[in-house]
Amino acid sequence: MSIDLQFGDAVPDATRRRMSYAAKTFAAVYGYEWDPGGARVRLCYGAEPSRATDVPLTASYRPRVMGAGPAAQYHNDALFLDNEAESFPCLHPAPYGVDWLGEIFEWIGGEAEHTTRAADELGAVPYADTLPGRFRLDPEVPWAALAMRGLNQEIRSTVPGWPEGAAIDGKPIVVATHDLDFLPVSTVASVQRGLKNFLVAVFIYRSPRLALRILRNMGRFDDFEGIVRRERDEGVQASVFVMTAKTHRRDANYRLDDPEVLRLLHKLLDAGLDIGVHGSYDSLFGGSLQNEYERLRRVGFEPLGGRQHWLRYRPQELFAQLVRAGALYDCSVGYNDQPGFRAGASFAFVPYDFANEQPFPLLEFPTVVMDATLFRLHGFDIDAAKSHVDRILRRARLYSPGSVAVVWHNTAFGGGQLPRAIGDLYWALRRPGTDWVSGKNAAMALWPSFASAGLIPYRS
Ligand SMILES: [Zn+2]
Repeated sequence: MSIDLQFGDAVPDATRRRMSYAAKTFAAVYGYEWDPGGARVRLCYGAEPSRATDVPLTASYRPRVMGAGPAAQYHNDALFLDNEAESFPCLHPAPYGVDWLGEIFEWIGGEAEHTTRAADELGAVPYADTLPGRFRLDPEVPWAALAMRGLNQEIRSTVPGWPEGAAIDGKPIVVATHDLDFLPVSTVASVQRGLKNFLVAVFIYRSPRLALRILRNMGRFDDFEGIVRRERDEGVQASVFVMTAKTHRRDANYRLDDPEVLRLLHKLLDAGLDIGVHGSYDSLFGGSLQNEYERLRRVGFEPLGGRQHWLRYRPQELFAQLVRAGALYDCSVGYNDQPGFRAGASFAFVPYDFANEQPFPLLEFPTVVMDATLFRLHGFDIDAAKSHVDRILRRARLYSPGSVAVVWHNTAFGGGQLPRAIGDLYWALRRPGTDWVSGKNAAMALWPSFASAGLIPYRS
């Protein structure tokens, strides 16, 4: 199964680059061969079809002007979610049909977030300016995956025998990650952290029950090495993201030049974990994420990716710095305060570089679930939390093998910060047939599909 894309003369250069990026991502995610010039199926974007296997596409995409954009218009098509028909919101409405490539680009390219200057209290893009926020769409629907499904159906309606779904029979992947915001480097540090967790339970979560439990477990954090041993026993490969700079009070409590910390990190490396960078609070706001990667390299590690602390980022700046830092993957695209698909993606994708109108050479594994968020939403109702995550992970497997990231902080285990059951949930979420892997291994597994689609350079 091979595809390529051709444009009508009237399609402007930037639109060509963006739609090519969307089409190549579709090819990579669905496992179709991207074969310019020789493909069996030609997608015709604003171009006249001339062969039987030319698929005419609706071409209504228009670049967004700063902050502005058209309203969503609902399109009823046979797209299904949880066995129910789902109406697809067209962000680039056309009188007839849907501009599936434009819709895919809108979601994974992140144009809405790129074109807003609005900032929340962290300086990041406010929820109201993400696509689900702006258009009041359900953030727990992988809209980009639905758009890809729509495109695939459109090809099928023209080309008999075209596959019903993704040609890849790859396993779904969950990128298992732990952000290290705290390490019990001393008893004092543990008690301080315990007090902080107590205050958070009282004043932020407003949960006396959690506060009492934290008091009982004061300063007790599960031994992280034990968690790592259990992961190895259960066949989970994980990434650990380490903070290497401490310039803000919201940064982690430990320092990279502490020999105890280095000893622990080397033990984790020896145990087979992928050690990446947890970009510090100010790393993109006056700090240097590139230096944070360098620091970890200077003490003997080879970080290949990571996630921003508090998800404090603006996309263009984050990805540009990651590329300069030599990162190959990132897991920052997600929500701080709710599960969901921020870029509409339930699959790995290559972020788009608006400054150069080309893909950034790295992979994004969107983060769809965080430990603390589950407690905030469901409290001690662990069954509700579990079915919530199950739904998200089930949706991540819809229409493509899916590859998403989850984060359980090291402090989420053991009951010193969150109910012990939230830590236990990490182990309960695994399903046969889904691999739980590190960012590094996910990048190694998925890089070739995106390289052969021409989105990123080949690497050995
Ligand atoms: Zn963090």
